[in-house]
Amino acid sequence: MNFHILTLFPEMVMNGLGTSITGRAMEKELLSIEAINIRDYAFNKHHSVDDYPYGGGAGMLMQAEPIYQAYKSLCTKMKLPEGKRPRVVYLSPQGDTFTQTMAEDFAKEEELVLLCGHYEGVDERVLEEIVTDYVSIGDYVLTGGELPAMVMVDAISRLVPGVLHNDVSAEFESFQDHLLEYPQYSRPEEWHEKKVPPILLSGHHANVEKWRREQSIIRTALRRPDLLEKAELTEEEWENLKKTLSE
Ligand code: SAM
Repeated sequence: MNFHILTLFPEMVMNGLGTSITGRAMEKELLSIEAINIRDYAFNKHHSVDDYPYGGGAGMLMQAEPIYQAYKSLCTKMKLPEGKRPRVVYLSPQGDTFTQTMAEDFAKEEELVLLCGHYEGVDERVLEEIVTDYVSIGDYVLTGGELPAMVMVDAISRLVPGVLHNDVSAEFESFQDHLLEYPQYSRPEEWHEKKVPPILLSGHHANVEKWRREQSIIRTALRRPDLLEKAELTEEEWENLKKTLSE
């Protein structure tokens, strides 16, 4: 999978994503991540890419043309089939809130373009021209789209086959089946007088799985009850949950 990040701060995204698991995946050529400096497409001698908003108001806006030229140059490089445009995400607090389901959907793309805004945002006209998806990482306002783009690339990358050492670790995780992950324990068996639940030491695989599913359900009910509505629980599981919560 190839990520193309349109940004004014290429070093910020590349330093962050070049580290750890995404960095190793790039080395192994399981994915590629490039940051394109929008400033390289500035059309005036001062290399400025922002200007005052029409109608007044605080702050500056990113101008349409440098972003559009960066995008056009990228499309030419990508060699897409005739008439096909890449999916372009504009990171914006006004977008749909990013979820694991969205990460799974984006992971199906071969090419993904992420546009990072800065200052007060971006001239609306270029957004209308090139953007296919508007994505927010939460209801708060950041100074730029770089951190949100890195969040998206990280979450999507780990769904690309081979990026995680063990594909199983991407399978049983929070939000799979709309449930949060069960509690996990590692050595030692006892720490600060807290013991690992004995079932996990039993070696009985089926019982371990049953316990984990129960724990997932209880944890989701306590921490994210909103998710449970979509989780497919059996009648027995609903009954057990009600009993546990009433205890
Ligand atoms: N004036 C804009 C508004 O009210 O919608 C906010 C601009 S913000 C200061 C600058 C840039 O940061 C945005 O263009 C966007 O790319 C990015 N950004 C800020 N918060 C974000 C969020 N929660 N999710 C995704 N991107 C965000």
